[in-house]
Amino acid sequence: MRERMNRGTDFSDSEFCREGTRSFMKPTSLERSKEAPTLTSATFENLVHEMLVRLGEDPEREGLSDTPERVHKAMKFLTKGYQEDPEVLLKGALFTVNYDEMVIVKDIEVFSLCEHHLLPFFGKVHVAYIPNGRVLGLSKIPRLIELFSRRLQIQERLTTQIAETIQKVIEPQGVGVVIEARHLCMMMRGVEKQHSAAVTSSMLGCFRNEEETRSEFLSLIRQRPNGV
Ligand code: ZN
Repeated sequence: MRERMNRGTDFSDSEFCREGTRSFMKPTSLERSKEAPTLTSATFENLVHEMLVRLGEDPEREGLSDTPERVHKAMKFLTKGYQEDPEVLLKGALFTVNYDEMVIVKDIEVFSLCEHHLLPFFGKVHVAYIPNGRVLGLSKIPRLIELFSRRLQIQERLTTQIAETIQKVIEPQGVGVVIEARHLCMMMRGVEKQHSAAVTSSMLGCFRNEEETRSEFLSLIRQRPNGV
């Protein structure tokens, strides 16, 4: 834990992010010792420790001494969606009904990590579908969103995965998903105006083919009690 790692990979040409703050990633600690773990044998905590060193920090100081362990736990939690099967989740909660009006669950909070910067993006998800003989237990929609958001994501894929999984498992007449989210990787770097949100949508079946269905969904999610 205390030794620095061998530098098994050359990062000198790698980019921290697409926009390129290249100097950020330049290695500053190149010490080698026979006992030091390699990149692949290093524990997660070793890697975070080394990252702190490269950022110019002292990982031994009081406030940081347990940080590698905390980061490991936090990252495991925030990416635990990889361990879960979305179809199994939904299949356990299907109910036969005659109802064929639109079912909407809106303003579901979402927190995820962008795969480009490993920084959070967060916002609201709105989901609607028109059943075709089967409905989903309502609590499963937030759970499905949570499952996919606890993976490294881009907002566009998160939107599509939610819509496609519902379409595949319950085979409704159609599904609509809209996500409005703010991305810290943009907000903290001043890339975007601080209060603007990215909006993505995925429309399948009758939500794609019927203008009227899509408009009904969009107007229902626009009705905000507080005008937010
Ligand atoms: Zn990002």
